Amino acid sequence: MTKSIVVLGGGAGGLELVVKLAKKFKREAETNVVLVDKNASHIWKPLLHEVATGSLDSHHDETSYRMLARKYKFKFVLGQVTQVDTELSQLHVAAETDELGEELVEERLIPYHQLVLCPGSRSNDFGTTGVAEFCIKLDSREQAERFHKQYIKQLHKVSSSKDDTGQLSVVIVGGGATGVELAADLHNVAGRLSDYGFGSFSQARLNVSVIEAGPMLLPRLPERIGISVERELNSIGVNVLTSTRIERAASDALFTSEGQRIEADVSVWAAGVRAPGFLAESGFPVDNLGRVKVNPDLTVEGYENIYGAGDCCCCPMPDGDTVPPRAQSAHQMASTVAHNIVARYKGKSAKNFVYKDFGSLISLSKFSTVGNLMGNLMRGTVFVEGWVARMVYLSLYRMHQNAVHGPFSTLLLIVGDRIYKATRADLKLH
Ligand SMILES: Cc1cc2nc3c(=O)[nH]c(=O)nc-3n(C[C@H](O)[C@H](O)[C@H](O)COP(=O)(O)OP(=O)(O)OC[C@H]3O[C@@H](n4cnc5c(N)ncnc54)[C@H](O)[C@@H]3O)c2cc1C
Repeated sequence: MTKSIVVLGGGAGGLELVVKLAKKFKREAETNVVLVDKNASHIWKPLLHEVATGSLDSHHDETSYRMLARKYKFKFVLGQVTQVDTELSQLHVAAETDELGEELVEERLIPYHQLVLCPGSRSNDFGTTGVAEFCIKLDSREQAERFHKQYIKQLHKVSSSKDDTGQLSVVIVGGGATGVELAADLHNVAGRLSDYGFGSFSQARLNVSVIEAGPMLLPRLPERIGISVERELNSIGVNVLTSTRIERAASDALFTSEGQRIEADVSVWAAGVRAPGFLAESGFPVDNLGRVKVNPDLTVEGYENIYGAGDCCCCPMPDGDTVPPRAQSAHQMASTVAHNIVARYKGKSAKNFVYKDFGSLISLSKFSTVGNLMGNLMRGTVFVEGWVARMVYLSLYRMHQNAVHGPFSTLLLIVGDRIYKATRADLKLH
């Protein structure tokens, strides 16, 4: 009987995993590797802030799942998983309708023998009033494009107005990596807009605020990085408000717990993450952020044929903290899960996941890149910034491409990117 290994979610972790598994099982006729994703194409999530600002055209950088399925011989199912039925070992994939509500594809049931949960995470609005209606989150390509459209609309309005002193205010709630990288890239783009016909608009008319509830930016990273990033953001004109909690969002402003009103033409919510609700609804053991609790070998607690990888899982570390929601965590977990699934097929023992923190880098667009690198080579932690930090930051995406496409295709992609940039507009302003 044919057995199915199903990977739910083709993101930073899931896509690397499915490629690894497809390569391992390509000669095993009785084993199917299946990827289920709600989107038809993959875009690496750490690039979403660039899609939002227009520095990156998402259509240029996307990878079609069907193209990869053809290349590596796995099966791809397009659709949103709404429930995991662990009794019958099957996934419920929602029916799909067109814009007029007519059903295109009916609900499907996807059976599995082994399942890997990799649906990532979403922004956590902590139930704050008005956020769902008035703030944009940068969890997906659609949301990044929604921000982009709203931003360009406001830009057009402000720059076409007779009042050539009018300001465009963007308020970003959350001083983590997403918030600070978005703020810096907005300023970078604003500085180049006059070349693209927004003659009267300049960086001085862009009013970007980053609001953080904690006492400093980048609360999960070493203090030195937070201080350096705050200094850099202040120097380019970003308004940083720390120890400030947002209590309510409205269509044109955000309100702090101290009663302060902060005007916003566009509001972004990027404060913390939580796992998708269907995991808890399916009966999996979850923590207070809805993340699936996993054993040291990354099997979900209570299920020996279901694994978790990436942002969706709560994986304890020896220091009592949990593995942070980062691309490098998803990458490392994908490797361990691939190893353990293959080991199980060969009757060998599984290995436990050990998170290795290689450091964190924050890209402040063209202005700076700062962070720390860790590892045996570094003999501890080394604080880096400037060109070296930028090169390491860029290499993270190339490593992901290498894991998915292989070295030769990655080389072609690098050359292709150079040609694309030299022949097309380097900003997307529509
Ligand atoms: C703007 C931004 C910048 C970031 N920058 C960095 C950075 O610089 N460095 C870093 O380490 N990390 C960064 N991160 C975090 C990093 O992107 C995540 O930690 C990482 O992508 C998690 O990988 P994952 O595989 O768990 O989930 P994801 O990459 O989020 O992939 C989840 C996949 O599951 C699919 N999916 C979700 N739900 C369903 C469903 N119900 N049915 C079917 N498919 C589903 C999604 O379509 C997606 O393809 C950033 C995140 C954002 C938003």
